[in-house]
Amino acid sequence: MSEEIRDDMSFAEMLEASEAKPLYAGKIVKAKVISVSPTECVVGIDGSKHTGVVTLREMSHDPNAKMEDLVKVDDELDLVVVKTNDQEGVDTLSRVRFEAQKGMKDVAAEERPVVGQMINDVRAEIETIIDKQKAVIAEAALAHKLEAETIDVTLPGEEVVIGKEHPLNIVLNELKEIFIGLGFSIAEGPEVELDHYNFEALNIPKDHPARDTQDTFYISDNVVLRTQTSGMQVRVMEQKKPPIRIIAPGRVYRSDAVDATHSPLFHQIEGLVVDKGIRMSDLKGILELFAKKLYGEDTVVRFRPHHFPFTEPSAEMDIQCYRCHGAGCPLCKGEGWIEILGGGMVHPKVLKNGGVNPDEYSGFAFGIGLERLVMFRFNIDDMRLLYENDLRFLSQF
Ligand SMILES: [Zn+2]
Repeated sequence: MSEEIRDDMSFAEMLEASEAKPLYAGKIVKAKVISVSPTECVVGIDGSKHTGVVTLREMSHDPNAKMEDLVKVDDELDLVVVKTNDQEGVDTLSRVRFEAQKGMKDVAAEERPVVGQMINDVRAEIETIIDKQKAVIAEAALAHKLEAETIDVTLPGEEVVIGKEHPLNIVLNELKEIFIGLGFSIAEGPEVELDHYNFEALNIPKDHPARDTQDTFYISDNVVLRTQTSGMQVRVMEQKKPPIRIIAPGRVYRSDAVDATHSPLFHQIEGLVVDKGIRMSDLKGILELFAKKLYGEDTVVRFRPHHFPFTEPSAEMDIQCYRCHGAGCPLCKGEGWIEILGGGMVHPKVLKNGGVNPDEYSGFAFGIGLERLVMFRFNIDDMRLLYENDLRFLSQF
């Protein structure tokens, strides 16, 4: 290797230093013939920062002369060195243009064949030098790349972090599996719902007290964010004839303040069965089966009378606390039982509103609060944890 070319060198010093290298290695960005004669060719050099003049001398006297021997440089010039050991240098070199032909207009007509040949030779030589240097650079770049990108295949790989299912989805999916296994299908409906489906058709007229406990967000007088998935009962009955066997999971909204057990947004799963001869015992059988599949075969359930405007009779189902088996503990707040859902026989008025003849058909419906199931299942005491998207919490499931 010859002496390193530095930016603070004069061009003459650079020539000296680059003795063992092609002269034009990285030094010319753009060259233009300024004047030509049989013995002298003045070439303007346009560097990236400076412009200068290089004089090519005596070129026709020695056919074996190299460019290095032919070039003399005005010592006052301080040309910029294009660094050739990187891709940027290669790109700069490839932009080099040697516009020698343009200088020919200053040459006497009888000298043109000789000068033209000379210029062609010079250009060819410069291009050869440039090509050679480009190859050298490309090779060096490849070697550098191979060096830098060496792969140690024995190193351990980077861990790919894969997300986990949200606890709400874990339980919802299990629940869907259970009901699909029982012959139910899944129905979906709008979260922005007509007052008619959310209230009126479910036997909850405008002045009904049940509206107070289900205050919601009104888009207009007749359009609300649904407070319950029960509106799907009438929607489904309008769309298909019995036998009907569906569950309708989804988000519901109420204007509740946020605390450990309340949220303005939560999830319900509505269930509806309509057919000939459906009885309360069918409701009990299905829900008991569901509870055992979700919480284990030894799960004990009980039904308590209740009131819902759209079922008659109505009931709430509790499951016996799995931790204290009914004795009372903090999990069940000393009750021994935990309420998990409500249901009942579909009110004849609701059947009628869905276009089903209550003299011919009967049905049952139930509504399950998903959050309640999840909190009970995973022993979560604050509902807000389910919505905060804290990975420390969510990664536990
Ligand atoms: Zn308990």
